[in-house]
Amino acid sequence: MKPELFDLRGKVAIVTGGNGGIGLGMARGLAAAGADIVIVGRNEAKSMAAVADLTKDGTKAVSVVADVANETEVTAMIERVTRELGRIDILVNNAGINIRKPPHTLEIAEWESVIATNLTSAFLCSRAVHPVMKEGRGGKIINIGSMMSIFGASFAPAYAASKGGIVQFTRSCAVAWAADNIQVNAVLPGWIDTDLTRRAREEVAGLHDKVLARTPAARWGAVADFAGIAAFLASNASDFVTGAAIPVDGGFSIMG
Ligand code: NDP
Repeated sequence: MKPELFDLRGKVAIVTGGNGGIGLGMARGLAAAGADIVIVGRNEAKSMAAVADLTKDGTKAVSVVADVANETEVTAMIERVTRELGRIDILVNNAGINIRKPPHTLEIAEWESVIATNLTSAFLCSRAVHPVMKEGRGGKIINIGSMMSIFGASFAPAYAASKGGIVQFTRSCAVAWAADNIQVNAVLPGWIDTDLTRRAREEVAGLHDKVLARTPAARWGAVADFAGIAAFLASNASDFVTGAAIPVDGGFSIMG
């Protein structure tokens, strides 16, 4: 195997929501392969802690505070990264939220907030980064879906709609930008132990054990499980992989 296959030295990666959970797990994988990391989130203190965590291992990492659902803030964030780091090779659209309610009680403002944070954000960040990647003769975009990209969930109608949308948005960008040498793929996490699912376990009775019972790997996922897929999808190793939606779920989605 050529050693440069997974080498990300000299590359710049933006990870939205990279200040914790799955985003930080992916940022660590990209950093381990040599990439410089830009952490994008709203909570500056949390982002600075993530930057400190990454830099202690010798990675160049910076924080840019932005709300990825806000078009003006996304444009400013991409302009700043391009100006200060000179290039953008990798974009991970990971920021996400959930509001757990059945469809019949969900308010329009709640629907719009979940769609804006989980889906519109991926559109805004991808559209803004496209000219920079095209100018750099290629790039890698990794969008984060969910098991709810595949399955319905009575308690998460807006979340499931946003995550189903992520897969189709991924495919559309993959087709649109293949000629620009930009590969666009989605990762569909199973049930992973993060702040998001800690709240879900409090709010949804029996969830913890139900997940264990239907996951062939017989455990909840850890954020470290996302380091490898991030490095693969961001590197030359995946140059002929585009428009894919790859479960990282311990087998949850193939359990009969
Ligand atoms: P966390 O709650 O730990 O992380 C979510 C991140 O998104 C935070 O870093 C948060 O940072 C950021 N974020 C939220 N809203 C915004 C916004 N408007 N602008 C910028 N950043 C924002 O969750 P997870 O790590 O669990 O989730 C990460 C992704 O993985 C999400 O897309 C989620 O849907 C998906 N996922 C998670 C699963 C799991 O089991 N954990 C399963 C399937 C999918 P800040 O607060 O600083 O803005």
